[in-house]
Amino acid sequence: MGEEATSPLFPTYGRYPIAFVKGEGSRLWDVNGNEYLDLMCGLAVTNLGHAPKQVVDRLKEQLDRLWHTSNLFHIPNQEKLAALLTENSCADRVFFCSTGAEANEAAIKLARRYYQRVLNQPERYEIITFHMSFHGRTLATLTATGQDKVQDGFQPLPAGFVYAPYNDAEAVEKLISSKTCAIMVEMVQGEGGVNPAKPEFVHKLVELCDKYGLLLIVDEIQTGMGRTGKLFAYEHYGIEPDIFTLAKGLGSGFPIGAMLGKEKLAEAFSPGSHGSTFGGTPLATAAGIATLETMLKDRVPQRAAEMGQYIVSTLSDRLAGNPLVKEVRGMGMLIAIECRQPAAELITAIHEERVLVIPAGPNNIRLAPSLVIEKADVDHGIDVICGVLAKKAAAAV
Ligand code: PLP
Repeated sequence: MGEEATSPLFPTYGRYPIAFVKGEGSRLWDVNGNEYLDLMCGLAVTNLGHAPKQVVDRLKEQLDRLWHTSNLFHIPNQEKLAALLTENSCADRVFFCSTGAEANEAAIKLARRYYQRVLNQPERYEIITFHMSFHGRTLATLTATGQDKVQDGFQPLPAGFVYAPYNDAEAVEKLISSKTCAIMVEMVQGEGGVNPAKPEFVHKLVELCDKYGLLLIVDEIQTGMGRTGKLFAYEHYGIEPDIFTLAKGLGSGFPIGAMLGKEKLAEAFSPGSHGSTFGGTPLATAAGIATLETMLKDRVPQRAAEMGQYIVSTLSDRLAGNPLVKEVRGMGMLIAIECRQPAAELITAIHEERVLVIPAGPNNIRLAPSLVIEKADVDHGIDVICGVLAKKAAAAV
């Protein structure tokens, strides 16, 4: 794991000793021609599988026509993707960027600016976020992230973030002060261990936002684009966030992010107050349009709900007696097998059987398969995972 001392890359990633050169559907091939079953989709990114035909065709067509123009000109694909997103969500406005961290950065900036410029309350800039959240690695978003290890060594951090325990609305209310402007939350904490928010917690957050005049920001970067069995995870809770953010699955692997919000927020931004050279290029938005159109046409979120339920119930049944396993949980196709020991060694053993899974926190094996994966592939993946865990459990006694 990690970069060799001879590598010209900064050692920012702990890497597995595998290098892929080709992907198709739920299959990946490494440099030696070995075939893997992909149950992680990057990190919950290639929701339609690798190289989905509809997206490839659209990108090829756009590649031949136009890749990039400045945001100083109108970009018809941006307008089209924004219309598709707003027609299918609670949002009225969209800002495009390239990554999840940038989408959250835009959400933080919009919340601050709304209070400063629209409501004329510059003293309200503080955002409440949660322990074990993950919101990105720019300075503001790593500060929003409630994990010491992500913030370590980057002090001084920007002011304006306080942290509450997840699923604890009472603790949130205690943190609300005359400085608070927003609450930022994931509906399922992905990097934090695949922890779904409890419905009563989410409803209480909405109540608190109403009571104290706060904005509710939902980070859907991992949970959005069908991953949890709805197009956006907030739909499970019957709520409408003021702002939500997308990236990962939005372009099927082509870099694109989006920050979406309610109409009342539009006047907070003005030309020059925010922007990005690469935000919403004709090419990136072509990937987004093809992805979203495919998801809607093929009812991909519904399929994810059904297949996710099948995976969780099958894994729960088959791992019921395994002493290494504490719990199987998930929402749609964002799933964790929580182990009673660190999961790293188990994950490596599963990779050795040519099935790809990822960690989520120290003890969890995370599964984030393509939302259109074939059932036979799911069954093979389940067989391999259960086989490896059974073998490891037998070796431990
Ligand atoms: N927010 C959530 C919930 C995420 O899972 C991630 C990435 O894992 C991010 C934000 C950051 O996205 P990016 O790595 O594209 O900046």
